[in-house]
Amino acid sequence: MLDKKTSKRVLLDIIKKYPRKHKRRDPFYVLVSTVLSQRTKDANTEKASFVLFKKFPTVYELSKAKIGEVEELIKPAGMHRQKAERIVQIAQVVVERYGGKVPNTLKNLIKLKGVGRKTANIVLAVSFGIPAIAVDVHVHRIANRIGIVQTKKPEETEMALAKILPKKYWTQLNGAMVNFGQMVCAPRNPTCFACMFREVCEYGQRNTSGDSESGNSGG
Ligand code: SF4
Repeated sequence: MLDKKTSKRVLLDIIKKYPRKHKRRDPFYVLVSTVLSQRTKDANTEKASFVLFKKFPTVYELSKAKIGEVEELIKPAGMHRQKAERIVQIAQVVVERYGGKVPNTLKNLIKLKGVGRKTANIVLAVSFGIPAIAVDVHVHRIANRIGIVQTKKPEETEMALAKILPKKYWTQLNGAMVNFGQMVCAPRNPTCFACMFREVCEYGQRNTSGDSESGNSGG
């Protein structure tokens, strides 16, 4: 495991070098598009979100939508039946219980069906600017690979990262890690030979210790 000082430096470098710009920050859009993003690629999420919000631009309209119609629109995101039911239900609860406004607390967000801790933390961080570390598969994988944390579950990773990274950077970590994961530290075949963290990264050192520079054993 890396020491706390090195871990903090690596996290701050990732935030600085791989910042993510969010095209939209309105809470309902972020909430729905994050639900749509589950188990699919960014490009699919964007396609599905675009057509969905073109047809149903507000929470009120989506709350009255027919699930079958929503299913058709969000097909590019995969798992369209399950996701359509969830997002229409979420819209209905937001309208009925919260007057059309997405709640801004973890406690209330995770009460919405289909909204877990990761999705809730993304909404808090991106839409409300509330310090929260959203740990998805990218954050969990990368933090463990480098040796910043040694955890089994995303929630443990969240708690461990919160002890290392100052609160003022929490909102930026997820987006930067996602970018870094897409550009450099991919699930399979990470480009360790070209990575700025190769010297400190536990996985990177193993992956580039042979003659070949293109270590690509996945992980
Ligand atoms: S050295 Fe490899 S495993 Fe480590 S952070 Fe860089 S790309 Fe990822």
